[in-house]
Amino acid sequence: MTQPPVPEAPDDARWQAVAQRDPAADGTFWYGVRRTKIYCRPSCPSRRPLRPNVTFFESPEAAQAAGYRACQRCAADRVGAVATALARAQHLLDTEPAAPSLKALAAAVGFSPFHLQRVFKAHFGVSPKQYALRARTERLKTHLGAGQSVTAALYAAGHDSPATLYAPATDQLGMAPRAYARGGQGVQVRYAVVTGPLGPMLVAATARGLCAVRFGEPSALQAELRAEYPHATLTEDPATLAPYTEGLQAFLAGRPLPAYPTDLPGTAFQQRVWAALRQIPPGETRTYAQLAALIGQPGAVRAVARACAANPVALVVPCHRIVPKAGTGSGGYRWGAARKAQLLALEGALAPPF
Ligand SMILES: [Zn+2]
Repeated sequence: MTQPPVPEAPDDARWQAVAQRDPAADGTFWYGVRRTKIYCRPSCPSRRPLRPNVTFFESPEAAQAAGYRACQRCAADRVGAVATALARAQHLLDTEPAAPSLKALAAAVGFSPFHLQRVFKAHFGVSPKQYALRARTERLKTHLGAGQSVTAALYAAGHDSPATLYAPATDQLGMAPRAYARGGQGVQVRYAVVTGPLGPMLVAATARGLCAVRFGEPSALQAELRAEYPHATLTEDPATLAPYTEGLQAFLAGRPLPAYPTDLPGTAFQQRVWAALRQIPPGETRTYAQLAALIGQPGAVRAVARACAANPVALVVPCHRIVPKAGTGSGGYRWGAARKAQLLALEGALAPPF
């Protein structure tokens, strides 16, 4: 029964690209429709012709020499149109402090939003929106690496308000998993222990952002950090960490928490839970079931609870805002129920943000 595979004819591959409107094929060939004598890019949004009506060309010139006219919808004769549009879009995303919307971006490069989204993703592997997040994160890292304070770096990187930082920072600034798997080898972790209304608090950060905020006895806190990052360079450095420790202490005195970048080692699932926790506004609470629903996995309540318990950064990832069902108290907390009750009382007293 077995037969030798029939080699795929080049035109079959080209027809596949046309049938799928594959933007990655743009510029590699053009197709003409015999009946209308019009030629197009593979990604042209116009209705697909029937296969027998289609012929292929190596260049717009070849199509024109055969008597075909360029399609107006896909600007088939402008060889560099896609490359030019992509370069302009990339430049705008790299340089605009506030990432333009897809609609604005498309208008700026002269494409429809739909078409731009397709060719951009085909070329860069990510959508313009994802690209903008990465670009902003790269700028943030550059500014932090240059020794700027965290807050100054955030604003320089185009985070116009704390709210815009929350999810992106957690998504994009994760510690390189391999570095963490090696016990933090090659990673510089700076830390400081400060005092406050909840007792001693250890605050630690890598160059990328906060990696630990914990309560307890100072010696135990330091031992815990060392156990977690056995091969990292650990340095007690209160001066460098002042932007973090001062903001966290101010928060415990009733001020809003600054939008801090984080560098959290964790699984993709844990990262999603922690990102969702950061979406719960101060003064509000959720149940584990609500949080599970929020990440789109209503059946994963136990796993969500475990991820909350593994939260490495108290306050910044506000796992204290998760409470049992109404009327059963404020529930457990990695750093003690008394601290949790204190925090919830503190946030209940916060004035609503304007
Ligand atoms: Zn066309």
